Amino acid sequence: MNTPGLRAIATLGLAGLATGCASTPPPVFATRAASVSQARLQADVGTLTRIGSAIDVLREGATRRLGPGNLHSQADKLAYIRGQLEPLGYVIEVETFELPARFRVMPGVRGMNLFATKRGTTQPDRVLELGAHYDTMATPGADDNSSGVAGVLEVARVLAPVPSAKTIRYCFFDFEELGMLGSADHAGRIKAAKENFEGILVFEMIGYAVDGANTQKTPVSVPLLMSPPTTGNFIAVLGNMKSGSLGAAFERAADQGSPPLRYFSLNRLAGFIKDAARSDQSPYWNAGLPGVMITDTANFRNPNYHHLSDTIETLNFDFLTQVVRAAALCLQELAGAEREAK
Ligand SMILES: [Zn+2]
Repeated sequence: MNTPGLRAIATLGLAGLATGCASTPPPVFATRAASVSQARLQADVGTLTRIGSAIDVLREGATRRLGPGNLHSQADKLAYIRGQLEPLGYVIEVETFELPARFRVMPGVRGMNLFATKRGTTQPDRVLELGAHYDTMATPGADDNSSGVAGVLEVARVLAPVPSAKTIRYCFFDFEELGMLGSADHAGRIKAAKENFEGILVFEMIGYAVDGANTQKTPVSVPLLMSPPTTGNFIAVLGNMKSGSLGAAFERAADQGSPPLRYFSLNRLAGFIKDAARSDQSPYWNAGLPGVMITDTANFRNPNYHHLSDTIETLNFDFLTQVVRAAALCLQELAGAEREAK
């Protein structure tokens, strides 16, 4: 998650906001989503945080964001991601991009996005994405954003054997922390190629959840219309007007969890909230493409945000598993994947 900007402002009608939790009993979670593995998520976050070691990066001092330590972690993380997904049959592609002049402090530094694609069977021109940024600040980056990367990896694993009508592309974005540079580059390519693009779900910090009172702050609160929960144990769904059906699909999937995943919906309306523009779906919005951010709300909940204390021990893996299951189910249904009996 990018550094906070100005205080958020919500301006328009907020009808339709809802705090999730199905009142009906959840149907049997008879999909590949049920095979999302908490142990694999833990292993991924463990590996990614070791690669993204703050110690390596901090050694570089003034150029720490772009120093050799960070480049080392860039290459190693990409190798890890590729090593996880290539054996499952995914087509792996890397798109490189130049950094804006103000960031060219080191010769040879380039952005590198990685994509793992499974081509659709009957509607391959229709494309859905699930993505997360893999770069980190000079921290271990457990929640920000190894949690998101682990989530994308795990959805790709469990859906790998399931044919889908539409094409699914798993995205690993670089340099989000410098201003969503990787996702901006990729959204521009989608637009230029005039792809039949149906939307992206972005995992942006999805592993921190606590049950204590007053553990959740909010950038937006409108008396009588919207009062976000004050306990930080839900996932937030942030979509703009164009991405309403995508956010709604995630929320339906959240309701089907066992137990249902608590969520707070800012579906359709997040485009009016300044803090919602701080992650990788924002360049998609700017390009007129649908995108939804799935987040634990970052600094509004997690005191370790952008600190050395953003470590694996602080994450709630029960919560992370629930979020990843909901996304797997959502993507499976949107892509027309075959259901599998469990
Ligand atoms: Zn961040």
